[in-house]
Amino acid sequence: MPRLILPRLRPRHRMLFAEIRSHWARLALAMVSSFIMAVTQVAIAYLIKNVIDDIFVQKDLGMLKVMPIAVVCIFFVRGLGYFGQEYFIGIVGQHIIKNLRDAMYARVMALDLSFFQGERTGGLMSRVTFDTNMVRDMVSRSVTGMVRDFFTVLGLIGVIFYRDWRLALYAVVILPVAYYPVMYFGDAVRRASGKGQAAMEDMSALLQETFAGVKIVKAFSAEAHETRRFQGRTGRYLKLQLKNVVAQSLSSPIMEVLAGAGIALVVWYGGYQVVTGESTPGTFFSFMAAVLMLYDPVRKLSYTMNAVQEGLAATDRIYDLLETETRVKERPDAVELAAGAHTVSFENVGFSYDGNEAVLAGITFSVKPGEVTAIVGASGGGKTTLVNLIPRFFDVTGGAVKVDGIDVRDLTLASLRKRIAIVTQEPILFNDTVRANIAYGRPDAPMEEIEAAAKAAFAHDFVTAFPAGYDSVIGELGSRLSGGEKQRLAIARALLTDAPILILDEATASLDTQSERLVQKALDNLMAGRTVFVIAHRLSTIRHADRILVVAGGRIVERGAHEELLEKGGVYRKLHSMQFTEDEQ
Ligand code: ADP
Ligand code: MG
Repeated sequence: MPRLILPRLRPRHRMLFAEIRSHWARLALAMVSSFIMAVTQVAIAYLIKNVIDDIFVQKDLGMLKVMPIAVVCIFFVRGLGYFGQEYFIGIVGQHIIKNLRDAMYARVMALDLSFFQGERTGGLMSRVTFDTNMVRDMVSRSVTGMVRDFFTVLGLIGVIFYRDWRLALYAVVILPVAYYPVMYFGDAVRRASGKGQAAMEDMSALLQETFAGVKIVKAFSAEAHETRRFQGRTGRYLKLQLKNVVAQSLSSPIMEVLAGAGIALVVWYGGYQVVTGESTPGTFFSFMAAVLMLYDPVRKLSYTMNAVQEGLAATDRIYDLLETETRVKERPDAVELAAGAHTVSFENVGFSYDGNEAVLAGITFSVKPGEVTAIVGASGGGKTTLVNLIPRFFDVTGGAVKVDGIDVRDLTLASLRKRIAIVTQEPILFNDTVRANIAYGRPDAPMEEIEAAAKAAFAHDFVTAFPAGYDSVIGELGSRLSGGEKQRLAIARALLTDAPILILDEATASLDTQSERLVQKALDNLMAGRTVFVIAHRLSTIRHADRILVVAGGRIVERGAHEELLEKGGVYRKLHSMQFTEDEQ
């Protein structure tokens, strides 16, 4: 039973309370306002005796003048109290939401890529949006609601006892009896709410995935399948919510029946006392009013319990996220990578995603400035994984990746990543202007440089053909941008950052031959003078690479220049002849 009244506090809850405490002044004002509301409520119950006995029974003219004024004053003060309570707690609640959301977003942004592979975007979004709302509800209900309802209950019980303590003793027997079902249902709601929120996360994840991938859904005529899947999720949520509905809709009538029994008792006994002249009608009605007024705050206190339980469950989910540690950590004594051209070397590098299965093993090679290293091999061989180790999207599990002889783990992440530009198969453009997308890595770049980058990437011509030119917003262009055009914008972005290390991961793989030719020309401009890693699907694009690494099963199985490897007659030769026949067809 005590467990139900005060939810267990954990260190992470104390962190939230520290955040709440930082708003102590507003909270204090909100509490004072809530207290004022409680006082006025009690005053109304108390004054009913005077209204009835003095005005109606005694026909006291003096009271007839005083009472209406008193009533107006009480309700005015009550209005002030209501305003203060809602206003101050509202402000605190909104600040808490903002701060929690900001902290969550900053945390998520700081996490390494492996985190995102374990989490679904929609689920994360639900935590940042819904869970923070629940925390606000918990704070506002527990601060203002608790103060107001607690003191209202206390005051009303005081009035009851003051009016007729013997009758009061009968009445309060009812209260604890009514208390038990409230707590019982509160517990049920808390359990359902935790699961409900998890189901909500599931649902948002599905929404996010299918909305973002709607093209694929349609292409595979999977609308009905996805609709059924969604119905499965809403069905699960529904089942949980129905339990909630049962608990919530049962708790009120049970309370009311109990309250009704209490009132019947009071009417019978109190009425008898008035009839026999032992009590006055004013005393009886004041007593009665206080008993009736008790119902509302007691019920609200139980809601407050639910809000606190839900809020604490949400707090847990929020702090689970806030306390997630990034696996790619910067050393406290990390050094800045100096500007200039860079040599990148892999020294006996091994890597595993799960700590068991080796995805890369014994990778050793070195790339000097101005050199192009091509990485080829069948899909799943580990090529993407290999280049992801350079900007430390993941950390090696064996050996070391070094830039200019310094282990990348000894460099600051910002200085390392600023020196690297990446163009992937799927160009990522944000819903902003073309200009902002090109300048993503250098937001303060002057317009001439942005245009120069776009020209070198063969993007200038099609951009200036848009009605708003560089100020066109990507989202509004919609499907006007072809895959090749998007890729050339991504290349312009990489050109503008002018990073000395360049990683191209199948940058032309998803393009048709026509746009590939233009993109390839743009890439040639981009590659000049840099330390370049090219993962290429089409071998024709890498025949001039300084070095070709053939990766299979996480190992370098062959290395050398194009002609050398062809002569060798190994894996590369096989890959090459396979493509040659493909291209002829
Ligand atoms: P490639 O780029 O050559 O196609 P990848 O580097 O993408 O190959 O993948 C190499 C291997 O690592 C594959 O077996 C793939 O399934 C696995 N892999 C890739 N990414 C992850 C990941 N985030 N978690 C676990 N395994 C992964
Ligand atoms: Mg890949």
